[in-house]
Amino acid sequence: MSALLVAGMLAAVPAHAQWLSRTVDGIMGTRIYVEIWADDPAKGEAAIDAVMDEMRHIDDTMSTYKPTSEVSKVNALAAKQPVPISLELFKLLGTALEYSRITEGAFDITYASVGYMYDFRERKRPTEQQIAAALPAVNYRHVLLDAKTQSVRFSQPGVRIDLGGIAKGYSVDCGIEILQARGYTHALVNAGGDSRVIGDRFGRPWVVGIRHPDHPDQIITRIPLVDAAFSTSGDYERYFDEGGVRYHHIIDPHTGHSASKVRSATVIAPTATRTDGLSKTAFVLGPEEAMRIYNRLDDVDAVLVTPDGRILYSKGLQPGAAAAPDAAAPDAATPPTATPPAAAGPAAPTTH
Ligand code: ADP
Ligand code: MG
Repeated sequence: MSALLVAGMLAAVPAHAQWLSRTVDGIMGTRIYVEIWADDPAKGEAAIDAVMDEMRHIDDTMSTYKPTSEVSKVNALAAKQPVPISLELFKLLGTALEYSRITEGAFDITYASVGYMYDFRERKRPTEQQIAAALPAVNYRHVLLDAKTQSVRFSQPGVRIDLGGIAKGYSVDCGIEILQARGYTHALVNAGGDSRVIGDRFGRPWVVGIRHPDHPDQIITRIPLVDAAFSTSGDYERYFDEGGVRYHHIIDPHTGHSASKVRSATVIAPTATRTDGLSKTAFVLGPEEAMRIYNRLDDVDAVLVTPDGRILYSKGLQPGAAAAPDAAAPDAATPPTATPPAAAGPAAPTTH
């Protein structure tokens, strides 16, 4: 399930300080990985505890798999009446709607009005009739937020929301904030396809490998990162194949079908909420339209793998671009079958 691999190198360091890391499975339906450089191991472990607690809290609030979550409550009631919600959820819904506008509707949390009928593990998908009947409810404009009452309402019946496309990125940012507040200056937090790093690994960047969509053990390109977030979405994460068609977990809000205009999309930006909110876009709009949006945003870069195997890089990652880091100076059209680049350092934990 992993789309990214992080590798790094350690320089000589004081004996009492050390890297601490922990992996926890099953929060937000995914694997959480936290790595920090800690002077005091006991305080470091406590900081990681706090990050994990925060992730559990977000899962409890936002999961549609938990009938008691705030989001489940919203889905059950908001078509009938305004539902007062926590400030945290209110703000994240506002952010989600903002990403719908930025991505021209490609990112849309109401995808769930159709999306809830898919079950990729059970190889279950809706019929064309079911999709057609549910599709009018898919539109982010149906989600009405009222700041005065801090409540949410749906403008019509049948609307459902799901934050699976942004809550992990948001939780990574919350985890990073916890670590920053405790003074950590070298850290990585990862949840599923979403990650963010603070600082570097002692003079060297963190290095992110982007996986080959068909050969998860192969890295097709590596990108060095310092103080940045990145998300990879892939059609190989949660899917089933049937009759030559891949049914997977990113849904085109316009059709209700899986969105297949790219195989994978990696977005790099300052926060993981932002990279998560933008990484689905290329699947829905296609590489050219998505690059137009990414290139318009000054703080965003992207690497896309197209269905015919091309790797496309945004402006900032083009060879010769002012901001392009050394190791990310790839050919714009290297096929994913190209020789994987030499390892950037000792094998490091797979981030998810
Ligand atoms: P990960 O779950 O590994 O972070 P992604 O960031 O690619 O993976 O998010 C995929 C999830 O986004 C899906 O499982 C679903 O919950 C949600 N989603 C699917 N289609 C859309 C869409 N068009 N807009 C917003 N969210 C979506
Ligand atoms: Mg994600």
